[in-house]
Amino acid sequence: MRKKIIAGNWKMNKTIEEAVELANSIKLDLADCKEVDVVLCPPFTALKSVSDVVSETLIAVGSQNMSSEDEGAYTGEISHTMLKELFVRYVILGHSERRQYYKENDFWVNKKVIKALEKNLRPILCVGETLEEREAGDTEKVVEVQVREGLKDVSADAYTELVVAYEPVWAIGTGKTASAEQAQEVHAFIRGIIKDMVGEEAANAVRIQYGGSMKPANAAELLSQPDIDGGLIGGAALDATSFVSIVKAAL
Ligand code: PEP
Repeated sequence: MRKKIIAGNWKMNKTIEEAVELANSIKLDLADCKEVDVVLCPPFTALKSVSDVVSETLIAVGSQNMSSEDEGAYTGEISHTMLKELFVRYVILGHSERRQYYKENDFWVNKKVIKALEKNLRPILCVGETLEEREAGDTEKVVEVQVREGLKDVSADAYTELVVAYEPVWAIGTGKTASAEQAQEVHAFIRGIIKDMVGEEAANAVRIQYGGSMKPANAAELLSQPDIDGGLIGGAALDATSFVSIVKAAL
């Protein structure tokens, strides 16, 4: 039985003060939540403060990116060592906004995934098709390439640590959600690719989250699908009441 995981991607939102306030509100309800893994991913500037807020709880902290390199002349980047110093456990990698606006590609995303695993950080690898790709009937082709390339050279035993987030780009921040059937179909497809890559045990163990306008009103239905093991939440994660109710829908 896979434990569900709900992660909030706060993107480039929240000052330190606002982040602390949001984390404190979430903590009031979820500090002892054992049944679901809860992860908060604030911007880099608020990682330390949010880590402090949740330090004695079961809530984990994640970052929204990480360099594939250890240290050195990489202006603007952040390393695994720096993140671990701030008690970060998860790293979102290959988010569609990074692929779209910063031209991150599968090669670099894979290097980051490998580095994160090597350093005991848990990658949340994001994959998903654009609207044009879906309409052209290319969803499976696009997702398959992202999964195979993004998880290249990852050993079977690492699949208990990593998380895949299926995030149809057309559903992110648009208010449009994939139907439960559409999402389940792609999740099952991704699990099938992983089975082909590293075997049934790893495929059954890996958690695959859905992301794309998940909110309290649609969370329960999406999360009831057999291959949907959680959610990566953007907009609705910025409001404590909405985020908490999505976590409760996963119980
Ligand atoms: C995301 O960016 O990961 C996301 C799922 O955003 P939203 O929930 O706002 O669609």
